[in-house]
Amino acid sequence: MQEFNKKLIECRKCDRLVRFREEVSGRNSRYAGENFWSRPVPGFGDISGSILVLGLAPAATGGNRTGRVFTGDKSSDFLVSCLHEVGISNIPTSTSIDDGLEYYDTYITAVLKCVPPNDKPAGEEINNCSEYLEFEIDSMSNLKVVLTLGTVAHTGFNKYLRKKGFDTRGKKFVHGEVYDYGKFKEVCCYHPSPRNVNTGRLSRKQFIDVLWKVKHQANRFH
Ligand code: SF4
Repeated sequence: MQEFNKKLIECRKCDRLVRFREEVSGRNSRYAGENFWSRPVPGFGDISGSILVLGLAPAATGGNRTGRVFTGDKSSDFLVSCLHEVGISNIPTSTSIDDGLEYYDTYITAVLKCVPPNDKPAGEEINNCSEYLEFEIDSMSNLKVVLTLGTVAHTGFNKYLRKKGFDTRGKKFVHGEVYDYGKFKEVCCYHPSPRNVNTGRLSRKQFIDVLWKVKHQANRFH
């Protein structure tokens, strides 16, 4: 993975996203003076784990600032405190790349490795980035369950599945739905974005319930 990540962080395939990931650091007064990562954000966790948590993209002042996926923003606060509650992480917070966070049997990454404006990637950008996601999933030789956070993650995973010869017809994104592809299962869940959490679309209880479902599908009960 080291070689892979070394190549990944040099990627400049998407002109719009390269510009945005570099510009965004100057737009937030809360982090004035802080050096943003502003490069593609690699996945994090246990690549030999049985669980993959798949998000949309790094957040502007989260992964794009700290250099680690789901780190240093509101979505990370929500996600990691819930992962900790069900025993997937060693600590309940994800604040910086050197905070000592570990995930058990779980790897976390995003469909897109660079932050898109308004969290809306173009189809071409997703296509450009798909080779990286494919490599990550292919590297997870013990993978049993993929938790797709939102429709972009679901669509990205489905694209991967089709490329590998799986039939994804009729498999629409539905919160809480479990799809069985034989080799792996997919559990769909709303993305833990501030918008979904603050509007009540995704409550803490709902998210914890989904995480227990993921652990159950991966046959992990501790
Ligand atoms: S989104 Fe992916 S393909 Fe596009 S520049 Fe970033 S790493 Fe490269």
